[in-house]
Amino acid sequence: MSSAKGTGTFKFKAEIRQLLDILVHSLYASKEIFLRELVSNASDALDKLRIEQLRGAGAAEMPLEIRITTDKDAGVLTISDTGVGMTRDEIVQNIGTIAHSGTSEFVKRLAETKDSTQASSVIGQFGVGFYSVFMVADKVELTTRSHTGEEPAWTWTSDGQGSFTISPAENGPERGTSIRVTLRPEAKEYANPARIKEIIARHSNFLAWPILVDGERVNTVQAIWREPKFQVTAEQYAEFYKFLTYDSEEPLDTVHIAADAPIQWTALLFVPQKNRDLLMGSYQGQQGVDLYVRRVLIQHENKDVLPEYLGFMRGVVDSEDLPLNVARETLQENLLLRKISTSVVKQVLSHLKKLAESEPAKYATLWREHGKIFKLGYGDFANKESFAELLRFASTASDDPEALTSLAEYAGRMKEGQKEIYFISGQSREAALANPNLELLRRKGVEVLLLLDPIDEFVMETLHEFDSKLLVPAERADPAVLEALPDVAGPDGEEKQEELREDELLALPELISRMKAVLGERVTEVRESKRLKDSPVVLVAPDGQPSSGMQKIIRLMTKDESVPPRVLEINTHHPVIRNLLAVAARNAEDPFLALAAEQLYESAMIQDGYLADPHTLVRHMRELLGKASELYAK
Ligand code: ADP
Ligand code: MG
Repeated sequence: MSSAKGTGTFKFKAEIRQLLDILVHSLYASKEIFLRELVSNASDALDKLRIEQLRGAGAAEMPLEIRITTDKDAGVLTISDTGVGMTRDEIVQNIGTIAHSGTSEFVKRLAETKDSTQASSVIGQFGVGFYSVFMVADKVELTTRSHTGEEPAWTWTSDGQGSFTISPAENGPERGTSIRVTLRPEAKEYANPARIKEIIARHSNFLAWPILVDGERVNTVQAIWREPKFQVTAEQYAEFYKFLTYDSEEPLDTVHIAADAPIQWTALLFVPQKNRDLLMGSYQGQQGVDLYVRRVLIQHENKDVLPEYLGFMRGVVDSEDLPLNVARETLQENLLLRKISTSVVKQVLSHLKKLAESEPAKYATLWREHGKIFKLGYGDFANKESFAELLRFASTASDDPEALTSLAEYAGRMKEGQKEIYFISGQSREAALANPNLELLRRKGVEVLLLLDPIDEFVMETLHEFDSKLLVPAERADPAVLEALPDVAGPDGEEKQEELREDELLALPELISRMKAVLGERVTEVRESKRLKDSPVVLVAPDGQPSSGMQKIIRLMTKDESVPPRVLEINTHHPVIRNLLAVAARNAEDPFLALAAEQLYESAMIQDGYLADPHTLVRHMRELLGKASELYAK
């Protein structure tokens, strides 16, 4: 029936005329994307042919490939494939109407903008498919022959000016499509093979079918992410990683994952040995992954598929289900992409969990290098559990400063009767270990996690609990609960603390109110401590307020220089405090009490990471030394 039809001239549909008008007059800078579109179409046609062959359609044996030839002198570029080709009806249908939704969205936008300078900038955000060739072409001749073999070859010709003609082809291909592009004078660069190779390398390097430019194969890098995992060797992974990142080292870990339903995607992600973002000094922000649609790069450094906290990973994500011409600017709001992201993140986290179990040393390396970024995931509530399981901390459980523990391991070591997970923060391991709030916990042999990175406090605050055990700062540990636990040293290991005598008990409220009066606004309260053993005093955050560690972070963030008022706890069993009780019993107004209160407060502040005014501190120290030496000299 179609063979009855012959040569004919057709007018483009109105919306295509409008689109062509824009493209022909476009000043859009990245015109090279036309080649990506034509090569993708050729690749799609080969994909379709492969499917037909698998279904048993008897297509002629021909090499499945894309051939590009250049004729510099004539200013002509030809793109040929041995794919499915088109019948006459298919040509009219596919190249005479707006086939895909991206293009119609583009045209809708055009109608809204009406401003052609603005319109040309929209081209970059949308793929405009086949028609984009008119950004560079004076004339396009498409010759095609359908694989069905029922029709002769046809030639479709247009100068993009409103109409096209279809006529029987003179030297049609045996099968497939050949597009002869006569370049506009200002677009002659696209007849330069070097330029063509460069564009292919940028956009179409990973297409499955061979691409030959003037007979030379140009896409040599395999899209190994689309290969079954068992077929890819470690060397291939490493080679691809280096190609992708310019890293000279092998990747620390390779994550090759995929899903088929409800949305198809494949991801090949790598964990670099070193965090180069952090090496550069401050954190530069994640670099993102390369986003592919059926092996065609649609966005370099996409930052929406992987959340920031997995941003230390590099690699590619490819989906069959995203449209090739998805608008770049709306990618972020793209629902499909969001679903892909959710699914990728789930699989990445479970991969990391398996890694942590099967290769703990490797995971520890990953943690040391990338843990700082990973911890930013404290806000990912959807994956809270997996996130918590992947966290690692320094801990009092080991004397090895390099040792790390997970929350689950901590939970496994908890004392009988212990219900909470304790942590303490400090600027260094030494500072954290010297914190007097650890004294009671240490006596009871209760493990404490050492938070040495400011963000750890946020992590703990947001997690709130792990495996139904509350995460509690050491200064908030309930002494009554801890006292019920047996001492680790055993009953005779520790010398029994002497109870306060009656006169000392009487003097205690006096001493407390004197100290409070001396310290004034700096403390909300002075009270007897139940948690101290070796230190005379400790500062803790008032009840109902953020923990000391958290307060420090808030100060940092708000650039608040003021020192928040604290609670000063005093250890009534400590010799210094007992001596002060004796002084208070004699005379609660003794000026020595004021000097001692100041000194104790200041030293507690230093221990807690606040450097109080050094001049006052030194003055107080000298006064005290004066008094002490006087006594000593007697
Ligand atoms: P899209 O590729 O998104 O469908 P295009 O504008 O790029 O949109 O192409 C329109 C249609 O033209 C394609 O869907 C396909 O049916 C047909 N087509 C384009 N190029 C070829 C080709 N080389 N071989 C066979 N069909 C093609
Ligand atoms: Mg296309």
